[in-house]
Amino acid sequence: MNDEARMKTSSSQTKDRPSKNPDAPIAIVHGTALIGRQLVSDAVILVRNGKIEAAEAAKEAAIPREARRIDATDCFVAPGFIDIHIHGSGGCRAEDDAAGMARHVIRSGTTWFLPTFISNEFGRMLAAIDRVRACVGRVKGGAVIGGIHLEGPFLNPKYGAQRPETNVEPELQLARQLIECCGDCLRLVTIAPERCGALDAIRAFRAAEATVSIGHSDATESEYLAGRAAGITHATHLFNAMPPRSWPTIQTYAGVKTAGIEELILADDGISADILSDATAAHVHPSLLKAALKCKGAAKLSLITDAMVSAGLPCGEHKMADGQSVFTTPNEDVARLTSGGLCGSVMTMSGALRNFLKHTGAPLEVALTMTSEAPARAVNVFERKGSLASGKDADLVLLDRDLNVRSVMIAGRIEFNPQGSDFG
Ligand SMILES: [Zn+2]
Repeated sequence: MNDEARMKTSSSQTKDRPSKNPDAPIAIVHGTALIGRQLVSDAVILVRNGKIEAAEAAKEAAIPREARRIDATDCFVAPGFIDIHIHGSGGCRAEDDAAGMARHVIRSGTTWFLPTFISNEFGRMLAAIDRVRACVGRVKGGAVIGGIHLEGPFLNPKYGAQRPETNVEPELQLARQLIECCGDCLRLVTIAPERCGALDAIRAFRAAEATVSIGHSDATESEYLAGRAAGITHATHLFNAMPPRSWPTIQTYAGVKTAGIEELILADDGISADILSDATAAHVHPSLLKAALKCKGAAKLSLITDAMVSAGLPCGEHKMADGQSVFTTPNEDVARLTSGGLCGSVMTMSGALRNFLKHTGAPLEVALTMTSEAPARAVNVFERKGSLASGKDADLVLLDRDLNVRSVMIAGRIEFNPQGSDFG
């Protein structure tokens, strides 16, 4: 018996006597669904052949007689979470076990993600790309591996937790090697545009149809604008690893506030951003979370996990791909280096969603847009992912009223359903 069939049927199913045909359409009924950017109560999501056929209020919906029904009473139905920045999860690292990550992140509602590489010795990065390429796409019992995010090696070594010596100048020949090695799997590249040769590398990544993101950078205004002109359209973990302009001293203060990268990004309507919202607001202060949302809007501000290998494991010491140790402690969901410095998180996407709601008081529909539409737009997959709309892939998460993940559907199949037959 498959998962859908195990689900408790609604009373209307009995009444309508649906077909036992496993290829029959699925109707998710009675839930509160994110449709567009609004929550619609008593919605019907009709799924057929792995795609969403319709998503609308029940009074407008025509449910085919043969449809199998999933009763989502007291649940939210949202597009599956999309995580464009995740280094590891459940003991698996992006560089050596992306498929293991896929099977772990689905448990917290992620349906599509980009295994994210840190800067490392160049040959090791190429070997790791080969390993991920071999498993890009559907993973049985797991989330979809959407491609690769290279968070390096062309970063400014002064900022972030990565080993400084692994951050190299973005020579065009190195960029081309990475592009060639990734093939069509390269989705996102984080780069510091102030580095020598960065503009040609940005143009090459854009030509390869990757999204290029500014990050781990202290670009000046002119360097920022040159990076934008070359093809940067996104910003990586806004407010982290991008220092604010230094304050003038009392002697040099001329009464004018200068703009740093953060302000340039906030004021620039042409660039989207992603942001970290951990439980203790260790990465980003709640006021800055709110300011970012006001400036960018929900569809241009993605929630990310930036999760490390230790996400979902007991507190303790774990190793990153570059050999550095990361530590986790109780009472926070961030990872730290030996020095105590921040080094990503051990969050899940559902955790990031909860944290953001807690810190900002934003409406749920806003935060759910930030876990689906915004990241899908940032990496140019919104045509087929990131919202409940006709023709899109049927990647869905069902959350209970407390936002616990109840069930996850990928391409029309229930791939995670911990409550089993009790669901419904
Ligand atoms: Zn990262």
